[in-house]
Amino acid sequence: MILSSAYYREGQYLFGRIEERIKEAERRLSRKVIRLSLGDVTCPVAPCVAYAMEVASREMVRGETFRGYPPSTGFPFVKEAIAKTYRGLVNPDEIFVSDGAKSDLAGWAYLFDKSLPALIPDPSYPVYRDSSRLVGREIVALPCTQDNDFVPTIPSFEGRSLIYLCSPANPTARTMTMKELQEWVDYAIKTNSIILFDAAYQAFALEGPRSIYEIEGAKECAIEIGSLSKSASFGGLRFGWSIVPAQLQVDGIKLANVWRRRQSTLFNGVSYVTQRGAEAALSKEGLQYSAQCVEKYRQNTHYMASQLALYTSVQYGDAPYVWVKVSTNGVDVFERLLEMGVSVTPGEGFGKEGYQYIRLSGFAKREDIEHSLTILSTLTQNL
Ligand code: PLP
Repeated sequence: MILSSAYYREGQYLFGRIEERIKEAERRLSRKVIRLSLGDVTCPVAPCVAYAMEVASREMVRGETFRGYPPSTGFPFVKEAIAKTYRGLVNPDEIFVSDGAKSDLAGWAYLFDKSLPALIPDPSYPVYRDSSRLVGREIVALPCTQDNDFVPTIPSFEGRSLIYLCSPANPTARTMTMKELQEWVDYAIKTNSIILFDAAYQAFALEGPRSIYEIEGAKECAIEIGSLSKSASFGGLRFGWSIVPAQLQVDGIKLANVWRRRQSTLFNGVSYVTQRGAEAALSKEGLQYSAQCVEKYRQNTHYMASQLALYTSVQYGDAPYVWVKVSTNGVDVFERLLEMGVSVTPGEGFGKEGYQYIRLSGFAKREDIEHSLTILSTLTQNL
């Protein structure tokens, strides 16, 4: 065996598998399937982003303004724009720019030795589990169910670990409160563990903290990963970041230095044009545009949740997803809905606790949601 052993065992990534099944169904049904399954946005990028990228592209054709390789941790102008949104909680030197949260989450998984177990919420974004498996790391699942109001409970395990937290969460949409996050930060400090805090949906948080650094002690134990994919429609343009606090150390070594070394060895930075687009997305005008998109997704999500709540138990919150309990199993409902021209995500893809759930996405277009709800209502009795 010459590949990392997990590659011999693991199948394809969840969303890739679902997309294949949708394409098969479209061929069979000879029509388009409505996608309530994917976490991809439907708002186009803001005009100010397109304009900034156009100007940056034009700079590239003039000798005086042309730029070659970007700094591997990001241009100062974009780090300052990100830092501003944190209102003094982090400074630009603690920000490391990347091409999205997924690359960073997986990159961090490979940075820590595989002997360090991972505590992973179940259900959660599949990348935490899949990347841990590819590294060969032991996984301790943290069930998030109706019983604990979908927030991971502090385990009795007192060893050192890599802790994944996501708030607002995918797929349960739950935002952790200050108190809940404080308990995790205290636990991480006590056990000498590291928290990887996935803040991909931070722009959606209404009342809970938007950053883990609002919590006392978090700078001693937490790395935060951000993204513009969901709020500013950068899923295709690709832009994200890791925040590594200056004082965060592991075994006497500053993690910021380790990540800088990692990024300059394995990553050559994000394109100048994209970084100018990101800067515009984080400007006053860009943030206002994002807030309107976020509000549109929120209304879609709440509309879906209110309709589905008439006949089944639904969990929803700040992130644009509805986590729907079904009476049989999520895969079965996925198959039945696909035959009727609607795709959802079977909950099992997010972990064992998702067996009896499906996830619906509020990113979809309103007319598609309305049409899907009539189809879903025909399954009302046996959802
Ligand atoms: N984190 C969570 C919780 C997500 O749901 C997603 C995408 O669906 C990502 C990270 C990936 O974000 P990015 O597009 O920045 O790689």
